[in-house]
Amino acid sequence: MSLRIVLATRNRGKIREIRAILAGLDVELLDSLDFPPFAEPAEDGDTFLENAVAKAKAVHRATGCPALADDSGLEVDALGGAPGVRSARYGGPGLTDDGRCAKLLDELAGVRDEERGARFHCAAVLYPAPGAARKGLAAEGFLYGRIVRSPRGENGFGYDPVFLVPERGMTLAEMDPGEKNATSHRYRAFIELKHMLMRDCGIAAKR
Ligand code: IMP
Repeated sequence: MSLRIVLATRNRGKIREIRAILAGLDVELLDSLDFPPFAEPAEDGDTFLENAVAKAKAVHRATGCPALADDSGLEVDALGGAPGVRSARYGGPGLTDDGRCAKLLDELAGVRDEERGARFHCAAVLYPAPGAARKGLAAEGFLYGRIVRSPRGENGFGYDPVFLVPERGMTLAEMDPGEKNATSHRYRAFIELKHMLMRDCGIAAKR
């Protein structure tokens, strides 16, 4: 029987992307919404990695299954790395993804094109790792780009419409989902974790 792993996130965009990246691995990915409700851990760490470890451990405690967590966000050079670990809460409670993008564009209104550099940062954590009680696996991934002046594109989620991938001349929201998922910060973190699972934990490719 395949190893069962629960996805420690309720963000539909992340769930879709993580499932696509890990397709082909002989594991059964469960949704945390399929378990009885449990309290989410506070995301009050100083780093993405700390928050991802806390989420994976909390969801493992609540469900009894190994848990796979993603903590991610946008780091903008001209804002000293903000919104960073506060990306989901940027601008305060009650804002939608569109509202957070609008707030970011407002803050950067006077900033010149060459100073609008930014990166997406993703920390992926599996806890515990198969066959290694109380030990986890962790990997991080980055995607470098620039913040545009007005939102573009309908795909993706979060800050995708304002994040330009310069080599493609498109925002992440203008790319098709497969293209985003082949190069993104999330792809880079989770593909490394996938290789660790195959190389170090004996998880096979799906037949
Ligand atoms: P988390 O659930 O605390 O990790 O929140 C991450 C926040 O960062 C999300 O609410 C999004 O706004 C943003 N974010 C993370 N990854 C992406 C992405 O791939 N595209 C756009 N926004 C993202």
